[in-house]
Amino acid sequence: MTKSAFQNAMAQLEKAADILKLDTKSRARLSEPIRVVKVAIPVTMDNGQVKEFSGFRSQYNNARGPFKGGIRYHANVTEDEVKALSFWMTMKCAAVGLPLGGGKGGVIVNPKELSVGELERLSRGYIQKMYQYIGPDKDVPAPDVYTTPQIMGWMLDEYEKLVGHHAPGTITGKPLSLGGSAGRGFSTAQGGVYVLEEALKKLGKKPSATTVAIQGFGNAGSHAARILAELGCKIMAISDSKGAIKSNIPLDIKALEAHKEKTGSVVGFVATEEINNAELLEAEVDVLVPAALENQITESNAASIKAKIVAELANGPTTPEADEILFKHNVLLIPDILTNAGGVTVSYFEQVQNAANYYWTEEEVLTKLEKIMVTAFTAIWKVKEKHQIDMRTAAFVVAVDKVAQAMKDRGWV
Ligand code: NAD
Repeated sequence: MTKSAFQNAMAQLEKAADILKLDTKSRARLSEPIRVVKVAIPVTMDNGQVKEFSGFRSQYNNARGPFKGGIRYHANVTEDEVKALSFWMTMKCAAVGLPLGGGKGGVIVNPKELSVGELERLSRGYIQKMYQYIGPDKDVPAPDVYTTPQIMGWMLDEYEKLVGHHAPGTITGKPLSLGGSAGRGFSTAQGGVYVLEEALKKLGKKPSATTVAIQGFGNAGSHAARILAELGCKIMAISDSKGAIKSNIPLDIKALEAHKEKTGSVVGFVATEEINNAELLEAEVDVLVPAALENQITESNAASIKAKIVAELANGPTTPEADEILFKHNVLLIPDILTNAGGVTVSYFEQVQNAANYYWTEEEVLTKLEKIMVTAFTAIWKVKEKHQIDMRTAAFVVAVDKVAQAMKDRGWV
C-alpha cells in the first residue's frame, strides 16, 4: 500500500533519530504537530450563493522560532499532507540554520475555477478565521502551490485591518510595494544553484562541462534553467505539464522562455525533439533537476536514472524506496529540504527587513543567501561523510539534532 506523505515524513524522522540515538520523549514530541487548526471558510460566490471551503494550518514545531511555511490552494489538499509539509518546513528551516520553526497551511480548492473576486474573498476569509493564530512572532505564512504575491497582499491587508496596525512581517512573499524582499521571486532556484555548484566541486566537475535536464518550467524550474545557463551549464532537456523536449545542442533559455510565453508550452521549440516524461527523467545528463511534482522518482524508475546528481528543487519528488536505489547506484541526491531552502531563507530575510523597516539591495540579499546555502551544504556533507549515509538522511540528522537541542533547552523534553 502506498504510504501517506506524513507516514513517509515519519519514516525519515525515525531514520535520523536512530543515527542520533534520540531519546523517546524527543521522538514523541517530533512525531506530531503542536497544533492543527481546521476552519470552515464561507465565501459568497459571484452568483450570490455561499460556498464553504475547508482550510488548515498545521503548526508543527516552534522550538527554534515562530512557525513558518506557505499556504497551498489545491483540490487535493488534505490534513495529512499539510501536516507532512509542516514537518518538512520545521526540518528545512533547521537544516539551513534559520531561527524559525515549521508550519504549513492549505485550502481544499481548485483556484482556477474561482474568479478574482472569489479568490480574494476566500483569501480574506482564511485570515478572518486564522488571524489569532498567526503574526510575526507566532506563525508566518507565505505563498505555496497556486498562491501568489497578490494573495499574500490581500491576506496581509485583512490581517492588518483585524489587528488595527501595520505588521508586514506577518506574511512573506509579499509584493515589493508592501515590504517584499528583492530577490524573493527567484530565490528558490538561486539557492538550489548555490548548493549544486558545491556538489559539482565535490565531484570535480566544472559547470561548463555539465549537462542538465529539468522537469518543470514554472517558478523554480525556469529560473533554475536561466541561472544554470548563465553559469555555463548545458541545458539539454526540459518539460512542463504539456510535454518534454530534448536537444543535441544546449537550449537557448531566453528564446525558450519567449516560446513558452507565446505558445503556452516548451513543446515545439525550434530544433528540439519531443520526448515523454520518463525519457526526460532518464536522460543521459550529468544533473537531473526535478522542479515540478511529487513522487516522480520511484522504485520503478530509480535504477534507470543516468544523472550522477539529482538536485530536488521540487518538494518530495523522490520516494523513500527510490532514495535507497539511487544511493546504491552512487547517485548524489541533494535533498529538497536543502536544495529548495533558498525560498524560505529569503522569506526570513524579508521578515528581518520588515522588522527593521530597512530594505536591502538584491546584491545584499544574494550575498547573504549564498553564505547560508554554502554553509548548510558543507555541514550536511560532513555528516554524510562521517556516517557514510545519503545526503537526505544527513540533512535530517543535522535538522533533527538542532530542533531536539532547542526543545531540550526549553525544558520540553
Ligand atoms: P509552478 O506552478 O510555478 O511550476 C510548476 C511547473 O511544473 C510548471 O512548469 C508546470 O507546467 C510543470 N508541471 C506540471 N505538471 C507537470 C508534469 N506532469 N510534467 C512536467 N512538468 C509539469 O510551481 P513552482 O513554484 O515552480 O514549484 C515547483 C516545485 O517546487 C513544487 O514542488 C514546489 O513545492 C517546489 N518549491 C517551490 C518554491 C518556490 O519558491 N516557488 C519553494 C520551495 C519549493
